[in-house]
Amino acid sequence: MDLSRYVRQIPIIGEEGQEKLMKAKVLVVGAGGLGSPVIAYLAAAGIGKLGIVDGDTVEEHNLQRQIIHAGNVGMNKAESAKKFVERLNPEVEVVAYPFDIDPSNVLEIVKEYDVVVSCPDTFKARLVLNDACRILGKPMVHAAILGFEGEATTIVDTPCYRCLYTTFPKVDKTAIAVVGVTAGFFGCIQASEAIKLILGMDVLKGRMLRCDLRTMEFFEIEISTNPDCPVCSGKLRNIYPENYEGECEIVKLDG
Ligand SMILES: [Zn+2]
Repeated sequence: MDLSRYVRQIPIIGEEGQEKLMKAKVLVVGAGGLGSPVIAYLAAAGIGKLGIVDGDTVEEHNLQRQIIHAGNVGMNKAESAKKFVERLNPEVEVVAYPFDIDPSNVLEIVKEYDVVVSCPDTFKARLVLNDACRILGKPMVHAAILGFEGEATTIVDTPCYRCLYTTFPKVDKTAIAVVGVTAGFFGCIQASEAIKLILGMDVLKGRMLRCDLRTMEFFEIEISTNPDCPVCSGKLRNIYPENYEGECEIVKLDG
């Protein structure tokens, strides 16, 4: 196996660590502002297989932060991201899913991967991923951004995203203002968390990191398991479309 491409990181992670990365399968959901740095750094690090899910088309106003799509205005974002990865690191196997994640496809796609990185632009997608990852026992790296601010955590078993909130606002994604560097910063945190999960290192489990890049204030919120969480209590064991409508409240459970 030729590891020369990775010679600068092998002193840190070891050849064994590099081989773990090269055997790992990571799913990145959303190839937008957060997904762009996630995809770039995971591909560069030599992840074995990258799945990229996105149903959107690249538009000129995306390029302020979605830097992997340069030159690809008009192309599907998953396909555009695949082209970027193939140029950056041809050793990475890339699967492009040129559609949005939803209750009908999430379990089938997520089950193929070891780690999920959540970078979509809707609460519906974040929640369907959270629930599918918990049902299938897959770790999920979360981040969300607004303006100069953002948050990140890694969900391994419990607590999960639904332990934090029970209802979610309907947000028009086009109305959300974000500075490009905020996406870059939090996307890099997500890529770092995914790499550490694969290497078996400690991650932001049970800790929500929040930062304001305007003031450079960083703080953490401890997240604990909510005993009423329908996912962590094991009451939800399947994906039902009813749970991802309106404010995405869980209305249908098993049994
Ligand atoms: Zn939970």
